[in-house]
Amino acid sequence: MKDASNGFGPAPLMTAWNVESQVHLIIGSNPLAAARCARSVEAGAKPVIVAPETADLHPTLSAQISEGSAQWVRREFQEDDLTSLGREEVDRVVDTVFVTLGGRNPLSAHISKLCRRLRIPINVSDAPELCSFTLLSTYSDGPLHIGITTSGRGCKLASRLRREIAAFLPANLGSAIDRLGGVRRRLWEEDHDGELGDSTLDGDDDDTSGQKHTFNTLVTADDSSAAKTRRMRWLSQICEYWPLRKLVSVTDEDILAILKAYSSGKDIAKETNGTSGLAKKGKIVLAGSGPGHPDLLTRATYNAIQNADIILADKLVPAPVLEVIPRRTEVHIARKFPGNADQAQEEFLQMGLAALRKGQQVLRLKQGDPYLYGRGAEEFEFFRAEGYTPVVLPGITSAMSASLFADIPATHRGVSDQVLVCTGTGRKGAAPVPPAYVPTQTVVFLMALHRLSALIESLTTFPAEDSNRSRTLWPKETPCAIVERASCPDQRVIRSTLEHICLAFEEAGSRPPGLLVVGASCHVLHRPADGQKWVIEEGFHGLDELHGELDTVVSLHEEK
Ligand code: SAH
Repeated sequence: MKDASNGFGPAPLMTAWNVESQVHLIIGSNPLAAARCARSVEAGAKPVIVAPETADLHPTLSAQISEGSAQWVRREFQEDDLTSLGREEVDRVVDTVFVTLGGRNPLSAHISKLCRRLRIPINVSDAPELCSFTLLSTYSDGPLHIGITTSGRGCKLASRLRREIAAFLPANLGSAIDRLGGVRRRLWEEDHDGELGDSTLDGDDDDTSGQKHTFNTLVTADDSSAAKTRRMRWLSQICEYWPLRKLVSVTDEDILAILKAYSSGKDIAKETNGTSGLAKKGKIVLAGSGPGHPDLLTRATYNAIQNADIILADKLVPAPVLEVIPRRTEVHIARKFPGNADQAQEEFLQMGLAALRKGQQVLRLKQGDPYLYGRGAEEFEFFRAEGYTPVVLPGITSAMSASLFADIPATHRGVSDQVLVCTGTGRKGAAPVPPAYVPTQTVVFLMALHRLSALIESLTTFPAEDSNRSRTLWPKETPCAIVERASCPDQRVIRSTLEHICLAFEEAGSRPPGLLVVGASCHVLHRPADGQKWVIEEGFHGLDELHGELDTVVSLHEEK
């Protein structure tokens, strides 16, 4: 005989007892007795507490006694309690006994012995050797009940496991089980309508059975008896294969639609590949993809990429990020070019909406962070107004990460105590108001490099027509850096000052996308050599080196 316990003694037979109306004798009146009493009442049993009048009664116990859900026999335990306090139909023998006095109390061992002789199930607190059964740490959700035992090794751990398992299950699982159970019964009854004989809804009274070997057998069109049970099998397949998350979202209307489709002779399983025939509501995720390197995707965005039916990506989303998209997924890249931004945006919104209406999971993938110069909130409003409120996932913004990958700390004690992120391009291409000089500020300009010289000029000089010259200009020797294609293999950093950066950029040529960082923080980690007007640094290896090191660690471990 196979021992399922791996040397820990035989496994207990775990069962779910129906104890409705049974008499549970509880010896003692301490908090444990109160807990046992509460569980008995929950299970529909009738607890009888045996404890002397002098005993301090736990408040829960007093409440249950005064409500009438428990009875109190006000004296010490007597042997004949076991055979006199029970139900009449079982000759007054009590159904179950709980002793809460602990294993050291000699009475516990005595009662245990009496109960075993009388075949009464007995549980003695803290004394597994005196018990014929133990209680499980349980989690309940409607008709679903999960019980855990560590065979007396650790009740705290059992309760922790219960919490972790419960947290893993989706909300409303209980009602979904109830709903699907109802459908199952209904289908079975319809399929067996008018049949005589002893066919039963198999597995109905026992949750232990797995699937039969015929579970996945193909049903052919001319196999009429098999076809008859096809919708039943379809339901079994749903229960077996669907992700729990999806199972719990089945509504009564969905079920009705399935039943209707079947009774009208349509093969919904065939039509929908057996999985997605329900009136699924489309979902939209608005996510940021980070600055470029795929390792800078958040796990949430990565999961959204893997689960999307259709992905609408901004033009700027870099190729290495697009490469993590599964091949079967439909991908569209925004056809944005200068002058048609609004049109491209509108086209995308409509595409997203059409997919949502088909019940698809749409991922709107944006570069960096979706709410930083990404028109994210506009899209949010659009979809929300159409009845599809997006889930928004943040992304690592280029504004912070490009400077970081160029070894520029956005703040640094004694150098920079604030950061300003702004755009170098105003609405419809107009020049934005330049920020005033704050010596302890790091300023990051996005969308600025195509008009770099005009921007630098506006920072360092007053235009001739500006009569209000109240703002402070940025000194020409202020350090700055252009960071392009941050986190991509062809990342480039040009370090200079406001005075020389334009010339440097002109000579180097542009490599979009890129941004400009201005402020004393640019010189914290890289001070230019005397007389050097600019420095150009090529390449980005940080994250790949990290991979290399991790791989080495793994292989070292493997060698051991
Ligand atoms: N939502 C994005 C910004 C969109 S605006 C974010 O949070 O990063 C587009 C601007 O972002 C570009 O003009 C450029 O200034 C900047 N940018 C985007 N990716 C970049 C990168 N990898 N390196 C440097 N700048 C980048």
